[in-house]
Amino acid sequence: MVPNSSPKIEHLYVDADARETPLAGRILKKLRGVPVTVVTDKERFLEKTAKLPLSTGKKNLWLTRFKGAFLKPCPATGPDYLCCRYWVINAQSHCPLECTYCILQQYLNVPLITVFVNIENVLAKIDALAAAHPGRLLRMGTGELTDSLALDPVTRLNEDLIRGVAGKKLLLEIKTKTAFVKHLPEVSQGNVLVSWSLNPDRFIRTEEFKSSRLDDRLRAARAVLEKGYRLGFHFDPLLILPGWEKQYATLLRKLTRSVPEKDVLWISLGSLRFPPSLKKTLAARFPKSLITSAEFVKGLDGKMRYFRPARTDLYRKVYGMLREKWKDVFVYFCMENKTVWRDVMGSSPEDNAHLDYLFHESVARRFPDLALPAPRRENYPAGD
Ligand code: SF4
Repeated sequence: MVPNSSPKIEHLYVDADARETPLAGRILKKLRGVPVTVVTDKERFLEKTAKLPLSTGKKNLWLTRFKGAFLKPCPATGPDYLCCRYWVINAQSHCPLECTYCILQQYLNVPLITVFVNIENVLAKIDALAAAHPGRLLRMGTGELTDSLALDPVTRLNEDLIRGVAGKKLLLEIKTKTAFVKHLPEVSQGNVLVSWSLNPDRFIRTEEFKSSRLDDRLRAARAVLEKGYRLGFHFDPLLILPGWEKQYATLLRKLTRSVPEKDVLWISLGSLRFPPSLKKTLAARFPKSLITSAEFVKGLDGKMRYFRPARTDLYRKVYGMLREKWKDVFVYFCMENKTVWRDVMGSSPEDNAHLDYLFHESVARRFPDLALPAPRRENYPAGD
């Protein structure tokens, strides 16, 4: 059986002006018995909680209203790396899982898992965005500042979105490293995918704490297929750790035997990258982690990456093994430069807009049931 329970929440904070929202009500009901503090002085609360250790923050949940934009373009890291122009739905920030390499350890000021309970307007924003980009295939997801499903059995944040986008000419992606799918509703329109970030089981055990084991993730992938979802997979971050080549070969064998290629919308490849400051945090929080023992170079976006020859070798092998089995699925690099694209895949998108277009082209061709508008390059002008 696939487990479906989120890591334990030990304390709940709820802003006084957020208590009456339907989402806050639902979460408070679900977490009945967990101590609750009502926050009346937000400034003092933030000052106090900013000092909490991350591991404590990951067991505490804060329900608040978000004043910014729920729907944003993915924060690409500069012109030297191609970005696929994904849209990010920021309904939650921080995550109860403990990946050693997680960049959120550096980026977020509030260490608590934060759920923005005024999410109800996001569907109108999605419609407005789609109306502003006729003829394009918009792709969006909830897994940028968190794992989409790690707390979802409690919050059920994704459910309204899933129902709300049903049948629209856009794709919603629910991205996870868990197997928590039992609570997801059945769907019938084919435009929602659940996607898994995958690593070999040996690396999951040492670098992705509190996440689900590989076999459970793959079992969950089969379970969501039966509920009508499509699939995506992310080999991100690919890790150069002892025995990686054999480990990724085993992983690819398992993946390609577990689910059919025809149900997989896309697969991304991205090697480990992190801000230099993460190294210190990592040494303090996960002294046994081996991920920073390889050689790194600072990229043009300021992030540390494996040296280009090492990255190319890693990608070539993983991409080659994948293509031996699956010839047609759309495969792309997340934040890589054109030289790497060409060296590994033989060609590169011209720019971000072209990469965005290539998604449309592949999805429209492989999934005619979605009845998408025909992909036209002129709808994806450069620099737009
Ligand atoms: S699942 Fe993602 S957000 Fe959560 S700890 Fe791991 S890397 Fe960070």
